[in-house]
Amino acid sequence: MPGSRLAKSAAAAAALLMLGAAAACGGDGDTEGTAPATPPTATGTGGSPTAAPTNMEFRAEVKEVTARDLPHSWREGCPVPPGDLRMIEMTYWGFDDRPHTGGRLVVNESAADDLVSVFRKLYQMRYPIDRMEPVDKYEGSDFDSIEANNTSAFNCRQATGSGSWSQHAYGLAVDINPCQNPYVSADGSIAHPDCVKYRNRDLDEPGMIHAGDDVVDAFADIGWGWGGTWTGAKDYQHFSSNGR
Ligand SMILES: [Zn+2]
Repeated sequence: MPGSRLAKSAAAAAALLMLGAAAACGGDGDTEGTAPATPPTATGTGGSPTAAPTNMEFRAEVKEVTARDLPHSWREGCPVPPGDLRMIEMTYWGFDDRPHTGGRLVVNESAADDLVSVFRKLYQMRYPIDRMEPVDKYEGSDFDSIEANNTSAFNCRQATGSGSWSQHAYGLAVDINPCQNPYVSADGSIAHPDCVKYRNRDLDEPGMIHAGDDVVDAFADIGWGWGGTWTGAKDYQHFSSNGR
């Protein structure tokens, strides 16, 4: 992202958020608003995961985005302009029980700081996240993003089974580990075969979200509701500002 104003604000945000991140490793000065660094320790799984020392503290940067950053997820006619969206670049805990850098989540500007606080808690409780990439990596396909078990937020699309905008279209909803936490239709069906076993919510496997757990609490602390409480269809991966 060129432009001294952007670089400056990104650097300022980074400076603020990095307070307390003493002795964090792997950053090597990549805080000037450029593309995320890809350290040589990348695991080669094709996603964003990059192994980092296990003592690495949570870090996040909130960056401005333009339409060019959202080639598939945003278009003219969407309910919010790119100027009202932000890219959170952050650390996340992986299923390999290690920190990962380079997670990217596109959200509404109004919710960015709150969501940083949520994901900091998730990191600190070592709640594992498989991958965290903008849906643009999947050409805006919600199905393909879920198939990859990708954690994501902004996507200018209709709500599933509805003719109105999803909260994702405002950047005011987040889907977390959508395989372990599937969307279950009212008839009990799940669109992703590899994830059907997670219809059984009595399982207690890594990444699964359950009523009353610390993940649900972290979102409740910023006033966000969980799709696991819905009647009829359940959306266990889904958190949103208005609970829908
Ligand atoms: Zn969702």
